Amino acid sequence: MFDNDCIFCKIIRDEIPSVKVYEDEKMLVFKDVEPKAKVHLLAIPKDHFKLLSEMNEDRAELLKYMLLKIPEIAAANGLKNGYRLIVNQGDDAGQTVFHLHIHVLGGET
Ligand code: AMP
Ligand code: ZN
Repeated sequence: MFDNDCIFCKIIRDEIPSVKVYEDEKMLVFKDVEPKAKVHLLAIPKDHFKLLSEMNEDRAELLKYMLLKIPEIAAANGLKNGYRLIVNQGDDAGQTVFHLHIHVLGGET
């Protein structure tokens, strides 16, 4: 399931370039193009969901999978001393890309 007009779906399908740091059949993690921290990664499900609020019990399994994978991906990207996870939900949170993503921010001293 993907959206032809979605920039992150295009990244998944290599239609636009990105620096991928982790990929499996369910999720992709790549570097944010405008990093807000020394390390700024975006973790996305390969299925297109716009919003956290579109999650249901079945889809929540995907979120659980991603959250359990993130520590190993963070460690592999040098985040030994901690990091922050952010999900922006909707316009008032400043969400700009409507394909659910988890920001992984870290590397500050
Ligand atoms: P949000 O405001 O939560 O929707 O975050 C969207 C994030 O996607 C921002 O931090 C952008 O810098 C990032 N972004 C937008 N386009 C790209 C791209 N082509 N490659 C990597 N990151 C991107
Ligand atoms: Zn998408």
